[in-house]
Amino acid sequence: MRPSRAANNRNWDRFAVTEAPFALLAALQARRDQGLLRTRCCSEHVSGSRMVVAGREHINFSSNDYLGASQNPLIRSAWKAGLDVWGAGSGASPLVTGYTAAHRELEEAIAEWLGVEAVMLFSSGFAANQAVIKSLLTAEHTVWQDRLNHASLQEAGSQHACRLRRFRHNDLAHLSSLLATAQGLIVSEGVFSMDGDQAPCAGLHELAHQSQNWWMLDDAHGLGVLGAQGRGTLDHQGLGSLRPDVLMATFGKALGTSGAFVAGRRELIDYMVNFSRDYVYSTHMPPAQAVATLAAVRWVKQADAARAHLAELIHRFRTGAMQAGLPLLDSATPIQPLLVGCSEQALALATSLRAQGLWVTAIRPPTVPTGTARLRLTLTAGHSVDDIETLVVALARAWQESRHV
Ligand SMILES: *Cc1c(COP(=O)(O)O)cnc(C)c1O
Repeated sequence: MRPSRAANNRNWDRFAVTEAPFALLAALQARRDQGLLRTRCCSEHVSGSRMVVAGREHINFSSNDYLGASQNPLIRSAWKAGLDVWGAGSGASPLVTGYTAAHRELEEAIAEWLGVEAVMLFSSGFAANQAVIKSLLTAEHTVWQDRLNHASLQEAGSQHACRLRRFRHNDLAHLSSLLATAQGLIVSEGVFSMDGDQAPCAGLHELAHQSQNWWMLDDAHGLGVLGAQGRGTLDHQGLGSLRPDVLMATFGKALGTSGAFVAGRRELIDYMVNFSRDYVYSTHMPPAQAVATLAAVRWVKQADAARAHLAELIHRFRTGAMQAGLPLLDSATPIQPLLVGCSEQALALATSLRAQGLWVTAIRPPTVPTGTARLRLTLTAGHSVDDIETLVVALARAWQESRHV
């Protein structure tokens, strides 16, 4: 959607005279010229998979709340109960007085669920990824990243002193050709956030082992959704006994709350508690949030019915979309991108769907590589079979119309 020029210009006038040393206006104008200017949309009300924007209700097909956990009554009431016991915030960083029994209980529950030795909590996945890379890797080390890794991983790799090597998406042979012995960390996502496909985890583990490097898995989109008890991508791939050297995942997706954890061997967590500035110098997550997230872990472990419903919706969506000839990517996860290519066309599709009450997001460069603009559709257990049928019909119509302009 085009932002209102008049409204923006009014705000920008104040900055125009003091542009130097930061060329903000020029950067914004360049984005606007390329049709890539971003703006935020404000939801006025949210209820299950419905959201109200500009006074109008939409079915939300852009949320990462894969199991509908953010609206789950058990998790909501746990958050309220946690508030009554612990108050609104943690009051300090974890090494001062911000680490509570609520945090410890959540860490222990995650360790038991995923069979890891030790766990530490962060306020966001972005912070957790920065913390891992910045505290482990020095200028002497190399980080090998899948090209499609999340911005929080790429950012840490490119802004930090360590060497950054990017390997082609899920390409083990390319990674292998870039590897050096005992030099650093191989990093991949479990389920890729923009494509919905999965990493070749057995191969990554094997290459790390052979080359005496460490392997980190960011399972933000796999945890809760895939595998027995929602244990994630490794379990889904029949690799339930594999342990990455560093396992990271977030609470803001299938678990329905917010925040993240890093897990691994005891010495990794002890080391990060001592040396990660992102951890040591940041106010710890509110204990009430830890209480809610513990309830979320307990619920997600046994949420087979929600996972089965979600799997059914994914199957129906893919069958319908294929029959309609839509350009689906090969994804078995709730992330179902439609590859459009051109940014303007992706935007036009999103706008047309929104006009029909379906909230979908056009993802454009630089979030995805140039020429691969897409609609990123996400399905959740909060959707009904009817919602999926509505989506397929509306998509097919909008797709046909966009072909004919
Ligand atoms: C969402 C996401 C993050 C960031 O987590 P936040 O808690 O939202 O900061 C990190 N990695 C991946 C793969 C993600 O999808």
